[in-house]
Amino acid sequence: MIGAGLTGATVASELTRHGYRVRVYEQADVVGGHVRTEWLRGIPYEPHGAHIFHTDDTEVWNLVTRHARFLPYEHRVTIRVRTHQLSWPLQRSELHQLEEWPLIEKELAALPPEPDRTNFETYCRSLMGRTLYDLCIRNYTTKQWGRDPETLSASVAHNRVELRDDDHRGLFRDRYQGWPENGYAELVESLLDHTETHLGTPITHTDLNDITRPGEPVVITSALDDFYNTEEGPLEWRGVRLESQYLPHTTLHQPSMVTNEPDLDTPWTRTIETKWALPHLHHTPGTIIMREHPGTTAKHYPVPDNTNTNKTLQTIYENKLTTHTRNPLTTAGRLATYRYINMDQAIRQALDTAHHITQNHP
Ligand SMILES: Cc1cc2nc3c(=O)[nH]c(=O)nc-3n(C[C@H](O)[C@H](O)[C@H](O)COP(=O)(O)OP(=O)(O)OC[C@H]3O[C@@H](n4cnc5c(N)ncnc54)[C@H](O)[C@@H]3O)c2cc1C
Repeated sequence: MIGAGLTGATVASELTRHGYRVRVYEQADVVGGHVRTEWLRGIPYEPHGAHIFHTDDTEVWNLVTRHARFLPYEHRVTIRVRTHQLSWPLQRSELHQLEEWPLIEKELAALPPEPDRTNFETYCRSLMGRTLYDLCIRNYTTKQWGRDPETLSASVAHNRVELRDDDHRGLFRDRYQGWPENGYAELVESLLDHTETHLGTPITHTDLNDITRPGEPVVITSALDDFYNTEEGPLEWRGVRLESQYLPHTTLHQPSMVTNEPDLDTPWTRTIETKWALPHLHHTPGTIIMREHPGTTAKHYPVPDNTNTNKTLQTIYENKLTTHTRNPLTTAGRLATYRYINMDQAIRQALDTAHHITQNHP
């Protein structure tokens, strides 16, 4: 296994359960990858960004709840528009608060029957009209991606942008939603309980001869440009930086765990208060807020450009894997597949990968 994030840890756990001897190589000095919880005076925060577990996949939910105790948590997001705090996704019933409501109302009445999927901007405008798009989405997206929303694919908006009229305030509609009472480390560490794990060990394709025997399957959860030492060029990623602040005299700072900040004068995109995930802490003094600043080169979000340049480079790397005959190589997880996936999808990929190995390499 290359990588001890949620994907690598789950593959390792499943294979170990089936009697395989698994070795995990992790470049960082800690396990867990992008999913990480820290605590300050008993208050949780997530230095790599907020992680809410939500899924409709019963097998995945059963697996995570076997390894960590999850408390029920329905995730809510608000958006700050000048002095207004609106629900996100936007709810039609709240829009009349906005000074622009007469114009917005007219635009909503004139929306096309089907969204225009030419690019991200056309999609959003055909979903909610120009005024709401300009107020809530255009600047946020420009900050988030560092590029004109017209150059982004409409797929970025799909499943992320909607205009609701059902008063459902939770961001997700999945059957299972929660947050691990003791943070995510417990989950990942429990998955790796019986696995030999080498920390501080970055692996590229040139290391395989030293660390594997011929024929041993290798699962790659690292980015493929890293695996190939960027031989074909670097894949483009958009990263975020979290700036955390402890507020000793505040119990709760904002109305929901996440507040979106669409104003261009505010350099961060979101303010996150993880404490919302654990209701039993809500009356404890002290909270931690994290401001999410976009614009680093960290490998957080693959960039879905509307010319598909990045996907094409990813395919070139994937084709290279098929030329490696000494070991069967499989990819799984968000980095190696160059796709934004949620934790439950990462675990689903890991379960399928482990199943594939048990079937093909008994
Ligand atoms: C800002 C942000 C917020 C998110 N919020 C949510 C959320 O609320 N809910 C949700 O379900 N999902 C969320 N996600 C997605 C979630 O983070 C991923 O689904 C999950 O991290 C995938 O795990 P992974 O193991 O595939 O990748 P990672 O967690 O990145 O793990 C990969 C591991 O491989 C290691 N590695 C990399 N290169 C090498 C190498 N060359 N050699 C050895 N090791 C290497 C890394 O150090 C890392 O430990 C969010 C993602 C982002 C970016």
